[in-house]
Amino acid sequence: MESLLQQGIKGYNNYGAWLREKYKGERVFKVIVDGGFTCPNRDGSKGYGGCTYCNVDSFTPSVSRNEPNLREQVIQGMERAVKGNKADKFIIYFQPNTNTYAPAHYLKMLYDEALSINTENIVGLSVGTRPDCIDAEKIALLESYTDRFDVDLEMGMESIYNETLGQINRGCTHDDLVNTLGLLKNSKLDVCVHTIFGFPWETKEMMLQYAAEINRFPQIKFVKFHHLHIVEGSVMGVKYKREPFKLFTLPEYANFLCEFLPLVRPDVVIQRLFGLSDMDLLIAPNWGLKKSEIQHFIDKTIADRGVIQGSAL
Ligand code: SF4
Repeated sequence: MESLLQQGIKGYNNYGAWLREKYKGERVFKVIVDGGFTCPNRDGSKGYGGCTYCNVDSFTPSVSRNEPNLREQVIQGMERAVKGNKADKFIIYFQPNTNTYAPAHYLKMLYDEALSINTENIVGLSVGTRPDCIDAEKIALLESYTDRFDVDLEMGMESIYNETLGQINRGCTHDDLVNTLGLLKNSKLDVCVHTIFGFPWETKEMMLQYAAEINRFPQIKFVKFHHLHIVEGSVMGVKYKREPFKLFTLPEYANFLCEFLPLVRPDVVIQRLFGLSDMDLLIAPNWGLKKSEIQHFIDKTIADRGVIQGSAL
């Protein structure tokens, strides 16, 4: 008899299953686009150099980098998704840098352009940003699309500890996130937060506390969990090469998730359990596996242990 995992049933509320249910079995894929933004901790308004773990290119698959203009990016991205993944529908995902870091009228022009290209098959807009680059006007702008599209606002939480956020040159605090979540309390937007596990100065007990902080905000609908990885072109990359520090091995990370997931509210949809940059940029940890193999290893560990999201609450 097939195991639950072989039947596609997982012990956590996963985005793939959520998408299939929401879009009635149609294959929905994110098309990553670059709106040409920067970040306030890169351009000097809050700092220079960006977050110490960040090389913006490492977020974006190499095929999506250096596209000529927004329209072409959307068209080519959709073509790739159809060819490679037999996609039926698309979510336009403004991913690299801070995609609300501009006046609202400029953002409107950009989002309108991206969403106007193939309105029949584009079902969603996803915007990645920082909590300190969102205000009521920008929330209202994003909400104005919700009558036609599902709109997902993704913000970096990264760590719940201000000391960590200072150490990684984030240029904003956890209180900034809490304040912005306050603005989003009754919003029509689907709020997603992104966290990183494995800063070498944070203990396991400290990381497990992230779950309670996520649970505290019912407006958080989606999460993306990442393990800390070190990439070329980042400040941390330079430091790591000089003086390597402890990073998660794959079994350690899977074990950590097995402890973490039971603490997370069961209605929170998990878009991602780990991150993987392109291999040409990855310094460490290199787990020597493809993305699908890492996913399988983690899913199998979770299934073998009988881990259920939210079961410890
Ligand atoms: S992690 Fe995000 S906010 Fe920080 S420098 Fe990179 S793109 Fe900018």
